Amino acid sequence: MEEKNQNIVMFPFMAQGHTIPFLTLALKIEKMGYKITFVNTPLNIKNLKKSLPPSSTIRLVEIPFDSSKHGLPPGLENTDTVTTYDLMLDLFEASLSLKPYFRNLLSDLISGGASLLCVITDMFFAWTADVTHEFGVFHAIFSGCSGFGLGCYYSLWMNLPHRKTESLEFSLPDFHEAGKIHVTQLMDIMLKADGTDRWSRFLIYNLSLWVRSDAILLNTVEEIDGIGLSYFRIKLGLPVWPIGPVLRSVDNRSRGGKVPGISPELCIKWLDSKPLNSVLYISFGSQSTISASQMMQLAKALEMSGNNFIWVVRPPLGFDINAEFEAEEWLPEGFAKRAEEQNRGLIVTKWAPQVEILSHKSVAAFLSHCGWNSVLESLSCGVPLIGWPFYAEQFYNAKLLVEEVGVCVEVARGTHFEVRREDIVHKIEMVMRVDGKAKQMREKACEVETMIGDAIRDEEDYKGSSVKSMEEFLNAALL
Ligand code: UDP
Repeated sequence: MEEKNQNIVMFPFMAQGHTIPFLTLALKIEKMGYKITFVNTPLNIKNLKKSLPPSSTIRLVEIPFDSSKHGLPPGLENTDTVTTYDLMLDLFEASLSLKPYFRNLLSDLISGGASLLCVITDMFFAWTADVTHEFGVFHAIFSGCSGFGLGCYYSLWMNLPHRKTESLEFSLPDFHEAGKIHVTQLMDIMLKADGTDRWSRFLIYNLSLWVRSDAILLNTVEEIDGIGLSYFRIKLGLPVWPIGPVLRSVDNRSRGGKVPGISPELCIKWLDSKPLNSVLYISFGSQSTISASQMMQLAKALEMSGNNFIWVVRPPLGFDINAEFEAEEWLPEGFAKRAEEQNRGLIVTKWAPQVEILSHKSVAAFLSHCGWNSVLESLSCGVPLIGWPFYAEQFYNAKLLVEEVGVCVEVARGTHFEVRREDIVHKIEMVMRVDGKAKQMREKACEVETMIGDAIRDEEDYKGSSVKSMEEFLNAALL
């Protein structure tokens, strides 16, 4: 690796779902020889120290933030423990107060002699573009979302099309290519938004500032996400570079602060004992959970379908999120015992070694909330999905996978959806059977696996689309 004397400042929003993808990208760019200054508020920097490999030279730098000055509970510096949308919005609004400190930080870096190549900040920190340009430095926004998902999200907030129709389905005025959106694919805060409420004011102000940036970087792949990427290129008139998949390494993953509920070795041993393409993996990401009645239906569906499964079970809605596993309270009577006795199901509590699981040849399908990291991890292993999205752009990720890529069927939406065990069984069969549509979907998922592999191939005589995008971005920042 050629050591470069150029600095890149990276500044994610204060939420683990944002800091972790940023850190993953930072580690990748660090390997290319750049010096990284990673900025956040004190508590987040403290947490991030645990995630940094000992060999890393990334500088973690604090900027001041006093939550109590903004009417927030003392010490609240990220969304991880936030349980209401009101409090989350308070934090979003309070984050605007970071502007003068961010300006000072850039000024100090430059006056200290650092050669600043560019600043990469969060999609919720678009105000940093103007501050960065004051110093004549290149600015990019990075998001860990898909282009399609983010495109729908952007268009929905900027147009609020559901306010202008009585119909349950509508298209996006500036993004017809996305097809119809159904009201069940809107979050509550968006359903209630009318353009003058606090969420609309914050988000519309913030999204409108994206055009001030010099580029958008997305953790996605041109070959599977072209529609969303084209939307932003035309809409914003900016270069939009897909540089993904940028995925956490297994080493780095275990440092994420979450304690696995099961050792990867045990999981692999269990999977080794199962036939090829016979296991359904179920996980709803790091935050989402389902309702108690949905959990019952899912468990009964698993028994009815008779497939092998690994299920990351979290406390259902209404229970303490840190509660210890209560098999008899959350699941049908005797379910956990039967799964174990018949050696048919592995119930994992809290946290599973997801990438190791998805990489195993016994895994046939992934029942997922369609968080974009989970989607990329699944498709990087050629595993088709059963979608159960819960909020934000997850609905549109599922839509992309079902309607455009052809590697997913959707089983439910959100926590209010009255899901029936028969329907779940039907969807599981649609993806897990050895013939028909399931076979086609698996073949498609394998094609996508190859496309993703090619996108990040960096060889003397071949550079994949994501490798080229990264080079174009760094060259543009140098100009
Ligand atoms: N993850 C994991 N084990 C779990 C749950 C989640 O390793 O039991 C990881 C998963 O591999 C992914 C991330 O957590 O990298 C979840 O990100 P995603 O974008 O899918 O969803 P989010 O948690 O942000 O809703």
